[in-house]
Amino acid sequence: MGYSPIVTIRILAVEDDSHIARLLERELGRLGYVLRRADTAAAAVQELRRETPHLLLLDLGLPDRDGSDLLRDLRAAGDTLPVICLTARDRPVERVGGLRAGADDYLVKPFDVAELDARIQAVLRRADRAVPQEVVVGGLRLAADEARLFGIDGLVALTPRELHVLRRLLKNAGRVVTKAQLTETLAALNEDIGDKTIEVYVHRIRHKIQGNGVEIVTVRGFGYLLRAIA
Ligand code: CA
Repeated sequence: MGYSPIVTIRILAVEDDSHIARLLERELGRLGYVLRRADTAAAAVQELRRETPHLLLLDLGLPDRDGSDLLRDLRAAGDTLPVICLTARDRPVERVGGLRAGADDYLVKPFDVAELDARIQAVLRRADRAVPQEVVVGGLRLAADEARLFGIDGLVALTPRELHVLRRLLKNAGRVVTKAQLTETLAALNEDIGDKTIEVYVHRIRHKIQGNGVEIVTVRGFGYLLRAIA
């Protein structure tokens, strides 16, 4: 399934263990994902009808139905939604069942959230090969989905427009990006661009990325250059 790299990644977590579900909600939320929860296979089907997520986290031991049966039905219907199965450590047969049913990956509980994040990114990347790798400059890291920027202290809150401008600078780190190029980036968002628009965004971005070992240098008459501070 393809997805636009600028949107937030929506995940549906199907998990009946409320402790794990809450942990997923909290930790994945902290990483910038938007999580919805379903605690039964039936609730999952309803959620999937309501809105298609970018990825499904599927516990295989659900109260009303086996998760792998639900997955088999989805695949039989031609649904290519990326799926990561969550399986219990003491039930290796579940893992095999999940993969046979069409899971893209699986994770054994209890799992490490950093590992889950890496697997989510890998599965999404495989699902859409146009999605580039993450970009790291100084203490800043643009996730492979291009929707989330991390600094030394975690997720950096940016507006979509700030993200557009900063993405362009990050992906061209060490090179001058002209004002015309940045203007073009914002025009793609139907932004009304006045004389000072780019200056205003760069000013805001500088403020937000402070303390992450990165600077945006003004190159008079040309544009801006982002680089790691030596
Ligand atoms: Ca369960």
